[in-house]
Amino acid sequence: MSTSVTRQTFDEVMVPNYSPADVIPVRGLGSRWWDQQGREYVDFAGGIAVTVLGHANPVMIKALDEQAQKLWHLSNVVTNEPALKLAQRLTELTFAERVFFCNSGGEANEAAFKLARRWGSTNFGPQKHTIIAFDNAFHGRTLFTVCVGGQPKYTQGFEPLPGGIQHLPFNDVAALEAAMNDQVCAVVMEPIQGEGGLIPATPEFAQAARALCDKHKALLVFDEVQTGNGRTGTLYAYEQLGVTPDVMTTAKGLGGGFPIGAMLTTAEIAKALAFGTHGSTYGGNPLACAVAGAVLEEVCKPELIANVQARSQQLKGGLAELSTRHGLFGPPRGNGLLVGVTVADSWRGKAKAIVNAALAEGLWLLVAGPDVLRFAPALNITQTDIDDGLQRLDRVLALLAAAPSS
Ligand SMILES: *Cc1c(COP(=O)(O)O)cnc(C)c1O
Repeated sequence: MSTSVTRQTFDEVMVPNYSPADVIPVRGLGSRWWDQQGREYVDFAGGIAVTVLGHANPVMIKALDEQAQKLWHLSNVVTNEPALKLAQRLTELTFAERVFFCNSGGEANEAAFKLARRWGSTNFGPQKHTIIAFDNAFHGRTLFTVCVGGQPKYTQGFEPLPGGIQHLPFNDVAALEAAMNDQVCAVVMEPIQGEGGLIPATPEFAQAARALCDKHKALLVFDEVQTGNGRTGTLYAYEQLGVTPDVMTTAKGLGGGFPIGAMLTTAEIAKALAFGTHGSTYGGNPLACAVAGAVLEEVCKPELIANVQARSQQLKGGLAELSTRHGLFGPPRGNGLLVGVTVADSWRGKAKAIVNAALAEGLWLLVAGPDVLRFAPALNITQTDIDDGLQRLDRVLALLAAAPSS
């Protein structure tokens, strides 16, 4: 146990762009982790929808250990077996025929948006460059990706910004129809807006976007950084919407905690990122790809997908019950183990206060914007862990109801 560094050290040595909780976790196992003082927490956050197989998963440790003994890094001047195997598997399991690896969701989207621009300019000319995206979308924190994202607070102060990006209300077919034209190179959406408050795309909207992209020869780009890798009860969320995108990005759960991102597309569209047009030093490195390969095999197993469905029902059932009993938040929504509830009017803007109170009771939750509590536990979380977490949440809500928000 290390207590030579504390939460206060953060303020002394770190850039203040984060405001981490008071506790410092030091060890995790499954869907539990322990802090410096040895206190135990139930993990309903999953490292923000990342640790799909929980903490210290033996399959992942084995994959990492074995690869660590062999080869860590070479660069993309040469290729490597884990990357090729992972790409092969991803193309077998999805619509995609070509894969680009990087290290995060933001990088995967950066690659997707650059691909869309270059695909437009090489095939149709420089005027085909407009990217259509949606209000409250989140696509990462690089300058291009915050600009395509639909949350102005993330671009403020970073001007001048890249142009050629248009934002529309989400799930509004008429607005999309009105905005589409032949200068659009891509329509970019999340199947379920994650950071934006757990707002699912309606199947009608996704299907209209697909049809309009076909009509105007634009690429339909699905950001599955958060919804991918089994999170919503299918390997990728697009499978549930009745549409196939042209480009899909993923990250978060793909590495289960080891940084990796991927952009997937068809062989034809991939041609636009010709030799030398884009790259990454670490992208597709053997360590990340070995771990992601092991994670992907686990996530594909029918038992795991069945657990996502069963635990989703259990979690949503429990939340619905807590919702009626305490009245601090509304009914649950979302798919699989990506679930959200909107806080009651008296708690508007203060979802974070509930998260902090939960942490004090040994439960780790997330917010999704100021008004939504988000649950994104490991996909292999047990029935007992869900029960324990719900019991802790029950205690938190009782405490908060007794001492109303100030
Ligand atoms: C988290 C997230 C990103 C950004 O991923 P990073 O790995 O933080 O760069 C992009 N898009 C969506 C939908 C996300 O949830």
